[in-house]
Amino acid sequence: MSKRIYNFSAGPAVLPEEVLLEAQKDLFNYKDSGMSVMEMSHRSKTYDGIIKSADQDIRKLLDIKDNYSVLFLQGGATLQFSMVPLNLMPPVNKADYIVTGSWAKKAVKEAKKVGTVNIAGSTESENFKRLPKQDELNLDPDSSYVHFTSNNTIFGTQYKTEPEVGSIPLVCDASSDFLHKKIDVNKYGLIYAGAQKNIGPSGVVLVIIRNDLLERSSDSLHTYFNYKVHADAESLYNTPNTFGIYIIGLVTKWLLNMGGLDEMHKLNLEKSSLLYNAIDSSDGYYKGTVADAGDRSIMNVTFRLGSEELEKKFVAEATEAGFAGLKGHRSVGGIRASIYNAFPLKGVEDLVQFMSDFKSKN
Ligand SMILES: *Cc1c(COP(=O)(O)O)cnc(C)c1O
Repeated sequence: MSKRIYNFSAGPAVLPEEVLLEAQKDLFNYKDSGMSVMEMSHRSKTYDGIIKSADQDIRKLLDIKDNYSVLFLQGGATLQFSMVPLNLMPPVNKADYIVTGSWAKKAVKEAKKVGTVNIAGSTESENFKRLPKQDELNLDPDSSYVHFTSNNTIFGTQYKTEPEVGSIPLVCDASSDFLHKKIDVNKYGLIYAGAQKNIGPSGVVLVIIRNDLLERSSDSLHTYFNYKVHADAESLYNTPNTFGIYIIGLVTKWLLNMGGLDEMHKLNLEKSSLLYNAIDSSDGYYKGTVADAGDRSIMNVTFRLGSEELEKKFVAEATEAGFAGLKGHRSVGGIRASIYNAFPLKGVEDLVQFMSDFKSKN
């Protein structure tokens, strides 16, 4: 296949072309090392440079200070649903969860196996079409942490500012919007993100943890589950996903070359506004699924057409025209355009044109 298509997949998702081409160039013989990154010992000097520079670049992009550890782990965001409560719930053994979608529910399911979960807020009764407001939250001042999902990949909602939780450590599943803009990491106790949406390929999950919280990790935990073990070993307790971390390193370099996260955010706002404007100016032909415009995600744009039949036709014709991955998550239906960092502006412009043509014809 010579031509790349517009890939709106929710994850694994589009990567920057520059990154793919650089990885291709390096694939056979990484910078004259005589071998591919895939063939290299994770304890070699060359690899040490790769993982250290990925760590440093993430710190640079988010201005992360030395009182935080950056970990590259495996098991996806899904294993973090377990590792977070296993490490951080004791000794109080209760935690607050804000439930804003399917992923948050999965996080709750695992946390309940460890201790008491207080649902501090939920919009499930409204089918997650908005986020709970600050004054709707019912936080327990004694809880071990408050968990929330910054971007709800399936329902298309996204926090624009963090929920306020006082001095309780804030824990965030940022899988689908990590590095989409600059955030103040100091507000967080822990952030985790599966790489395959916005920062790299699948198989790596990034964890940023405030070092004082490492003291909560009990020696009785199974070793791999223990954050402190990974922090002490600088993510090399066992063999990490060496190639995945290398790609994350290329993506962070790409972000730095673009001018950093403020520039990225500007571009993300431009892309999402184009698409939301097309939806809002379609006289109801396209309907956004999110109730409060302020809660709309700039990563996953979800909308519906007049009937499921029409949606099927839309997806089929879009696919034919080179727009892949627009079908909404199987649990909710509709249309979802995932426009992560690496998704090109031109692809959004072309989709908007396609939407206009489709509306005229149908
Ligand atoms: C995709 C996703 C997950 C699951 O990630 P895995 O890496 O497949 O475990 C969790 N949370 C959010 C918000 C997601 O978008």
